[in-house]
Amino acid sequence: MDRLQKVIAHAGVASRRDAEKMIVDGRVAVNGEIVTELGTKVSTNDHVEVDKVPIYKEEPVYYLFYKPTGVITAVSDDRGRKVVTDYFPEVEQRIYPIGRLDYNTSGLLLLTNDGEFANSLMHPRYELNKTYSAKVNGIPSKSDMNKLANGIVIDGKKTARANARIKEIDKDKQKAIVELTIHEGRNRQVRKMLEAINCPVDKLKRERYGFLDLGNLQPGESRPLLKKEVHRLK
Ligand code: URA
Repeated sequence: MDRLQKVIAHAGVASRRDAEKMIVDGRVAVNGEIVTELGTKVSTNDHVEVDKVPIYKEEPVYYLFYKPTGVITAVSDDRGRKVVTDYFPEVEQRIYPIGRLDYNTSGLLLLTNDGEFANSLMHPRYELNKTYSAKVNGIPSKSDMNKLANGIVIDGKKTARANARIKEIDKDKQKAIVELTIHEGRNRQVRKMLEAINCPVDKLKRERYGFLDLGNLQPGESRPLLKKEVHRLK
């Protein structure tokens, strides 16, 4: 037996909070009866409908994907461009990405059909460390690296503390590889942080997400998360 709002959230219909509102608003029926009580418990045998549309509880699935560049972090694109779910033709569940990587960013992306899991990972309070490797134009100075680590103003707001180190320097070409670990998830954050120190990004890759890394995966490949990995993320 599970609480009704949890069942709705798990089905990917809404976040748990939105599901609670749907219940209170009288949009949810259990076995044909409208239910507005938040504590209501339901089992897998109960028939749950939202706005008269049955929800069915899919088996939750979790994937770790190596997103290639030139792919949109979405489940569909009205301009017909490649999207991340195109790489999962054999997966029947309605999976979607957790968070996003830019079109031109490659690297580690999680996908799931578990709405509650996705919502909790994206919640600012919970956000895990994400490590990026950026090929940049220009060679950051020590003081630039300190700025990245201590916070730098982008879009009018200072970034939180980060770990920043130089991995490689090519003096002849005036290029470098910078590794940046951040826990925030602001729009184009890494690109903007590096632009702010005058080192625009050529290539960006997410190497790690919390304790997860890409292992031996190649761009476009994925693997299911292990049960213990899912557990650790919850
Ligand atoms: N920061 C960026 O600038 N782009 C990404 O895709 C992810 C983090």
